[in-house]
Amino acid sequence: MSINKRIERVFSDLFPINRSLTGKGVVETFDYLLNNFHLDGEIKAVPSGTKVFDWNVPDEWNIDDGYILNGAGEKIVDFKESNLHVMSYSAPVDKIVDAEELRKHIHTLPRYPERIPYRTSYYNKNWGFCCAERLLRSEQFVPPFKVFIDSSFNSNGKLRWLECVKKGRSEDEILISTYCCHPSLANDNLSGIVLAAFLFEYLSKVDTKFTYRLVVLPETIGAISFLSQANTKNIVGGMVLSCVAGPDKLSIKEGFDPNHFMTVSAHLALKSRVGEEYLTYEFVPDGSDERQYSSPGVRIVTPSIHKSKYYEFNEYHTSADDLSFIKPESLIESYEVHKNWISLIESYCHPKRINECCEFQLGKRDLYPRVGGTLNQQAHYENEVGKEHRLFNFENEVVLTGAHLGAFQWLMHLADGSVSNFEIAKRSKLDIAIVNEAIAAMYQKELLELK
Ligand code: ZN
Repeated sequence: MSINKRIERVFSDLFPINRSLTGKGVVETFDYLLNNFHLDGEIKAVPSGTKVFDWNVPDEWNIDDGYILNGAGEKIVDFKESNLHVMSYSAPVDKIVDAEELRKHIHTLPRYPERIPYRTSYYNKNWGFCCAERLLRSEQFVPPFKVFIDSSFNSNGKLRWLECVKKGRSEDEILISTYCCHPSLANDNLSGIVLAAFLFEYLSKVDTKFTYRLVVLPETIGAISFLSQANTKNIVGGMVLSCVAGPDKLSIKEGFDPNHFMTVSAHLALKSRVGEEYLTYEFVPDGSDERQYSSPGVRIVTPSIHKSKYYEFNEYHTSADDLSFIKPESLIESYEVHKNWISLIESYCHPKRINECCEFQLGKRDLYPRVGGTLNQQAHYENEVGKEHRLFNFENEVVLTGAHLGAFQWLMHLADGSVSNFEIAKRSKLDIAIVNEAIAAMYQKELLELK
């Protein structure tokens, strides 16, 4: 099956499931990911009522049905048609109400009268429906109304998340986090879940320096629950996957430290794909789970690369963020950028010259043109420089060019063990791929060690 077809299939299988902070839809989603992507992972849980930092884990919520009947007995709102119709974590209700009372429990979007909004009431027990404003203005809106929601709260329930680990050669970990609490909404954030699954499937097949930990969890309370249990001391950086299949151009929300290697490598990955044709949003402590990961006791730098970032598209948190809003091609573009990002993360190093005084004599090592002029010779450098640094971004055969010679000169100038490959690319204005190839070549000639 082509990747486009596979992406389409996964979206259409997972889109209808009613996800929330807790409940059957979340478990169904995790089981689907474990079975269809052969992820080596486990479902972790904390019991309802557990104190996690300043929060309490809510009761487990499930819903089987919900509707409104009008005075003529017609079903004018039906959870089974769209799970957005019932406010997430709505209390059960079964009674007859007049129009005035019903309006207090109905959410609409007057600016977009055809759309159903997405609303939640996790921590205030209340019942509620969401529907198109058009319905309230229609002839169907005739009292008395029967309102019915068949939902339940289980104080002996659980809050669950999916956690998968891909071991690398080092204990240093990269956290990949995405959230699974939204019902039928495609870009925010089913796209994040789908990208996470494809990316982890890819990671499980390649040899990596870093260990990667994937968590798929309900936003906010899930991240807080995970952090309350996790040993984060080995986590050196992370990424939050969210809103990655929309129609807009690629963008980055930077991590709280713009100079951290996770933020710098994300920019480099975007540049190598689209040049300057992407948007940059500076870090602010809002948005998704970077709010938890960036807090003082945690401090994990977690940039996000988006296609149609939350808050920035008007379909956001409405029924218009459906399968017609996203495209497999958009998800593939995000997937390719994230693979490139991982490859750059893997290449992150601080080269140090073996001998720090003066230039190396490059000519006797075939790193300098024998006849003056430009360097353009075939050279065989394997895509592997020792056990510690693989996955450099080049094929087995490298053609050394004038740009590589420039990179050798910058390396001889800067490689004192304190300057990263990313910083060398920035200072030299050379492509990071050229710098990495030059590092690999000099490493194989035993002119550099890598820290
Ligand atoms: Zn959202």
